[in-house]
Amino acid sequence: MTEVLSDLRAFKLATGAHHFASATIEIADRCNEVCVHCYQIQGQKGEMDTAQVCAVIDRLADAGVLWLTLSGGEATLRRDFRDIVAHARSRHFAVRLMSNGLRIDDNLADFLAEQAIASVQISLYAMTPEVHDRTTGVPGSFEKTTAAIRRLRARNIAVDVAMTVMQHNVDDVTPLLAFTAEVGARPSISGHVFAKEDGDRQTEALNLDQDRYARFFADLQSAAEQQSEKKAPEEAPPPAPNPLHGRPCQVAKASVHVEANGEVRACALFNHTFGKVDTGKGPVEVMRESEDAALLGGLTWGHIVGCRVCDLRPHCHRCFANAQDEAGDALAPYASACARALTVYEHQTGALAWESPPGDAPTGPFREVEPGVLARTEDTLSAEDIALRERAPWLRPARNLAAPAGSPAAARAREGFVPATRLARSAGISTNQST
Ligand code: SF4
Ligand code: SF4
Repeated sequence: MTEVLSDLRAFKLATGAHHFASATIEIADRCNEVCVHCYQIQGQKGEMDTAQVCAVIDRLADAGVLWLTLSGGEATLRRDFRDIVAHARSRHFAVRLMSNGLRIDDNLADFLAEQAIASVQISLYAMTPEVHDRTTGVPGSFEKTTAAIRRLRARNIAVDVAMTVMQHNVDDVTPLLAFTAEVGARPSISGHVFAKEDGDRQTEALNLDQDRYARFFADLQSAAEQQSEKKAPEEAPPPAPNPLHGRPCQVAKASVHVEANGEVRACALFNHTFGKVDTGKGPVEVMRESEDAALLGGLTWGHIVGCRVCDLRPHCHRCFANAQDEAGDALAPYASACARALTVYEHQTGALAWESPPGDAPTGPFREVEPGVLARTEDTLSAEDIALRERAPWLRPARNLAAPAGSPAAARAREGFVPATRLARSAGISTNQST
């Protein structure tokens, strides 16, 4: 790791020029698991060859990127996987690997240790073998994946255990946290399943319903409290305020993402391509020269119609990519973010009542009438909002907006309430939404 910080790239960070300090390259457009919740459509994009991947790595190094994540599909399926890792290390990257662990035997674990790889993220979905295997679609995958985690830890390689929590594995959160503590790995837990990258939303039906999400949230809180020696709720720090000038996430600022075929994106999930590396430009150059990327990187809470007037904003962790999938608009409220913010709000205030009945799956914006009592409220489109939509129609992509039966989004659709659409229509703007 020392050599990573010894070159000019460390100077770049030290001087505050930290934009695009990290990058991800999806080196494989294939996988040896068929996870029920996977957002990827594999085998259709094609893959860069060894020379192309190494050239991308060189361009990233020249642009001052410090951290490089290799992912897929399953990155270790490539025959040149070791050559790519060795090349990245020769360019002094701190290399992180995302893997399902199925191919990490003793030999590959030795190689990763020799290369002083910074960390490996391994996907593990349950501590109940049949639940994990049902999720991956590969019998025996639980045994192989947990063995790989132990193998890596035995070589003192940092391991992040990534779990996506869904309806069918929510009871495995606490056992999985115990496993990561036992082996000295770091848990990395997500409570959201994304739509597939072609817009098919059926995977969203796997998402936690409100009751299970509340249980999941309580499990995480309890684990966090145990780790921080049981801070009393009144001693807990106030939630981050998410000010209007702040950004909901660092998309298009801190890191850049390269698809298996060389397309450059802001992150793995945001549905917009900013250019391609085979044009002779590296990923960072593509992003820096893109007006679209500059626009995305400049979006703040103040640009998000509805959210900017919502009193639950301090409790909300919305995502531009999720909003594209669920609302067909990166700059609109969406049901699953609202549901989660309501759970967090209820947990932190100890109460949640409504001024008037909000319906099955209330979507914001919300107004706090008094602590613990909410009402739905409205926002209006400004001339700037309309100009932004016209300038960047890709923020509101044409998607399959038919929500999976039983999902919060389906309940919202039954109510006939799609805030972004209604706001747009009231302003006389045509929408690309089907509802
Ligand atoms: S858009 Fe969503 S997935 Fe992409 S960086 Fe932001 S929060 Fe993460
Ligand atoms: S409207 Fe929904 S998505 Fe927007 S800030 Fe409020 S809770 Fe979050």
